Amino acid sequence: MAAEADKSSTPWYASMRRCGQINYNERDPLTMDVEAWGDYWASLKVDAVLLNGGGIVAFYPTQVPYHHRSQFLGTRDLFGEMVAAMKRRSIRAVARMDCNLAYEDALKGHPEWFERNRDGSPRPHAESPWLFSTCMFSTYFTQQMPAIYREINQHYPVDGFFTNGWPSTGPLRVCYCESCHRIFDQLGGVPPEETDTSNLLYRKYYQVYMDRVLDIWRLWDQIAHEKNPQSVYVGNLGGGLNTVKDLKGISQVAAWFNADHQGRSGDTPIWVCAQQGRVANSVMQGRTITNVAGAYANAQPNWRHVSKASAELTLWLAQTTASGMVPWLHWLGGSPQDTRWREVGHSFFNWIAQNQAHFRNRTSVAELAVLYPQRTVAFYSRPESHRPGYRGGPVDYLQGLYYALLEGRFLFDFVHESNLDQAALKKYRALLIPNAAYLGDRQCEVIRSYVNDGGSLLATFETSRYDEWGNARPDFQLADIFGAHAVGEVIGPCGNSYSRIEARHPVIDDFKGTVLLPGAESRVPIRTETSSAVLSVVPAYPAFPPEMVYPRTPHTTEPAAVFREAGKSRIAFFPGDVDRTCWRSGDDDLSHLLQNAINWIRGADPLVSVVGPGLIEIFAWETEPGYALHVLNYTNPNATHGYIRRSYAIGRQQVRFRVGNRTIRKMQALRSGTSLEFQQRDGIVSFELAGIVDYEVIALT
Ligand SMILES: [Zn+2]
Repeated sequence: MAAEADKSSTPWYASMRRCGQINYNERDPLTMDVEAWGDYWASLKVDAVLLNGGGIVAFYPTQVPYHHRSQFLGTRDLFGEMVAAMKRRSIRAVARMDCNLAYEDALKGHPEWFERNRDGSPRPHAESPWLFSTCMFSTYFTQQMPAIYREINQHYPVDGFFTNGWPSTGPLRVCYCESCHRIFDQLGGVPPEETDTSNLLYRKYYQVYMDRVLDIWRLWDQIAHEKNPQSVYVGNLGGGLNTVKDLKGISQVAAWFNADHQGRSGDTPIWVCAQQGRVANSVMQGRTITNVAGAYANAQPNWRHVSKASAELTLWLAQTTASGMVPWLHWLGGSPQDTRWREVGHSFFNWIAQNQAHFRNRTSVAELAVLYPQRTVAFYSRPESHRPGYRGGPVDYLQGLYYALLEGRFLFDFVHESNLDQAALKKYRALLIPNAAYLGDRQCEVIRSYVNDGGSLLATFETSRYDEWGNARPDFQLADIFGAHAVGEVIGPCGNSYSRIEARHPVIDDFKGTVLLPGAESRVPIRTETSSAVLSVVPAYPAFPPEMVYPRTPHTTEPAAVFREAGKSRIAFFPGDVDRTCWRSGDDDLSHLLQNAINWIRGADPLVSVVGPGLIEIFAWETEPGYALHVLNYTNPNATHGYIRRSYAIGRQQVRFRVGNRTIRKMQALRSGTSLEFQQRDGIVSFELAGIVDYEVIALT
């Protein structure tokens, strides 16, 4: 409690560690048991609960014209009752709003509020066509929503506002309403509906669009503050690695980043939740981040009213926590007929509450920086991606590198390209760049200085070949750092190409019994200053029919990699898309090659090593009481498809953790609730973990 009191000057959400949301529906006023919900959330020891206020449907007796009262509200004030129920239990109440849709009577009364197609028709919702999309550039966002917020501020002791579905981090929308036509007149034309930075109108629209998002965010935050300086507006973000909107810009207006990354489907790997934490941290840098965990089965297809597998939800909550986000447990529907999810939330949240101090992170412990190349993620595409049947996208490079980082059990942070500067890179021994093709001059200059000052670098494929908008440069902007020049256009994608081992080198010395390694699907042909390559390109040749499968050019002098040392720096440059090819193929040699290269540029004696069986992800934090090492166990047949049904425990892990001069007196495994034996010598704490079921947190104090 002392720590809480010390923080009285910081906003309430900065110390939040648990959050809940009950997303009720229009009919719920008929049946919803307010006290039972209050008791449930209190039993989870949540700091805050999100409660549906209004927007599409008002759950209180609103007086704002065109603000549709729930047709089942009757004489009830469900929102008011819920807020009061939370307040009686000392839980903060945040009004959950929706600004994206409104009813037909509003469309008739205020046609200017709504998005329009090219032909002027409004845009009904696909599943609920009696609702129509509102336009962010209209006065619905600057007058109607503010009127609703102010009404709620006036009548209820809320601690903030959250908008469902807006602004999101995804692609821009193009609308043809009157307000938007005025913008097009200013731009000098209508922007394309698809993301396309080769179109100058798109570039201008992107700026105008981001400016509007930030203006609306500031306006709504200011309205939240009218009631109470500690109140806050929080928008809906998320999307994991996939982002189009400028996250750095958003982080400058967002006091609190809510990542609406609720679950996965299809072949999405389990670790995308932890990736979301890394992306959000790359811009929030220690400020509040929440992540919504859908307790319902939000796969494809989607089931809103049954629970997802308990083990899946637990690992989602675990990743949220491990990556430094605050878990926000979300259920839909006020009168559940499936209550299996409740115990999952109860158990996990109470465990966090019991060990709260160890989840107060000060800073991450990591020695590798992975560039989060947002403009490449947002804007870059290869010509082949427009062919029918093409799967994947610009995050595949980062996904492949990430996979190698997991398999190699490395400790790393994401650094957002907009935050790339000398100070941000200072703590890292190496910077890893997964095809940051679109990279600004400023970023390139920071990377050059970092390497010239002794930092090490790994980069792939077209990194720095284009500026931040995608204008091609004559060569890699970082050619001098890579020790390689681009001498032609990208070759590929084509399978059945190889790299040939030409010379001994630490990166490839442990490949035994072969002189051929799988090659990248696409590559930039390069010329180097030195004549000898460690790995050379064997160009693609037919893979079918077997009679034709032999190399037409078995040997070339074209380098498939450049490994060089300059002062204290080590540089590994792969002109092929080895990271993306690794991800698409799942090939172990390519992952191994990337891991070896990362190990070589980082050098010996890692900050933290965890040695043992299994596929894990590790995070380490300096916490208020000491350190916390988080280990997530992904060793599971459902790690890349389907929900995790159960955990498969992994065995003994040998851990070394470099703590420097700090004396560690106690070590606890918080999930298993045990004390651990350890040794401390020469600034390194070493210990053995007997095993890990789903998730373990080792607190060093
Ligand atoms: Zn519009």
